[in-house]
Amino acid sequence: MEIPLQSLYNGTWFKLICGASSQHIPTIRSCAVAYAIAGADCIDLAADPAIVMAVKEAIATIQPDYPTVNPWLMVSLNDGEDPHFRKATFDSETCPKDCDRPCEKVCPTDAIKFLPSFSGVVDALCYGCGRCLPICPIQTIQARPYVYTPEVIVPMMLALGIDAIEIHTQIGRTEDFTRLWQTIKPKIHQLKLLAVSCPNGPGMVQYLQELSQILSPPNDPLPCPLIWQTDGRPMSGDIGDGATRACIHLGQAVLALDLPGFVQLAGGTNNHTVPKLTQLGLFPPQGDRHLAGIAYGSYARSQLQPVLQQLEALGINRLEESPDLLEESVKIASKLTAALKRERSPKSG
Ligand code: SF4
Ligand code: SF4
Repeated sequence: MEIPLQSLYNGTWFKLICGASSQHIPTIRSCAVAYAIAGADCIDLAADPAIVMAVKEAIATIQPDYPTVNPWLMVSLNDGEDPHFRKATFDSETCPKDCDRPCEKVCPTDAIKFLPSFSGVVDALCYGCGRCLPICPIQTIQARPYVYTPEVIVPMMLALGIDAIEIHTQIGRTEDFTRLWQTIKPKIHQLKLLAVSCPNGPGMVQYLQELSQILSPPNDPLPCPLIWQTDGRPMSGDIGDGATRACIHLGQAVLALDLPGFVQLAGGTNNHTVPKLTQLGLFPPQGDRHLAGIAYGSYARSQLQPVLQQLEALGINRLEESPDLLEESVKIASKLTAALKRERSPKSG
């Protein structure tokens, strides 16, 4: 059994939520590297091809030194809104004739072409990494917004090698949820995990029961594990210990519903969460029905802020290029992961 799945069963699952409110790729990459080495089971990213590719590349880069680091990559899709990204665009008529076309060389997907039949950015090949934008000497390349429908983004994310999808929904959005689920369902066998994230509110019990029936009816059960992410107080973990109470309260309420699947805390999680769970007798996990783990977002990112600022001041985009800052960031990240699991030491994986 893969380590992340084992963690779910053991109640020690650690997920880093990285990217829901930030699209800054070097920051996401550094957070992913630090928490992956510190033992994160899963890294949850915006369903943005540029971000997914950057994190995949980062994990592959550190794996020779940390061979057992292999977190599952999850992307989040919102059932009420299609994801917005960017693509590069420029008018080749404005290019000076003597430009040696650094844009063409820097593009990792050969999306920039100068052919007799077409000159410019091939939309289908551009994933919006942004590398061509600053390199143009006359700054003629622009980023333009681009909206992906679920029919496009789901196969694209699977082709990039993601392991899991999380559907973000809200109470009462049954129709939107069903529409998005119908797009994911034919591909479900390619996923290791499906998650559903829903904030609290009146009618939550009935809504989650309804979703459970939609996802896993008795005659057609879900072929992969399912997580119910209880989004206590979204994006509030960095504002203090009060946020963690709401999140634990919601986790307990969803656990009591006994829905098929794991229950994992989020929204308001921070360094107070495990001590509070321990105080309530909910951690370490006991019995068959227990919380599967915790997702950390804004709190986890805020802990790394001093390191991220130093990286920025040094002009370093890849955390592993500064061994000192890498060590410092893993130490910081490990404080959080170690509350749920034992620390990993560098090089031993
Ligand atoms: S944004 Fe990235 S993928 Fe798109 S054209 Fe520029 S370099 Fe190529
Ligand atoms: S770098 Fe700028 S000016 Fe030069 S070919 Fe590319 S888009 Fe045109």
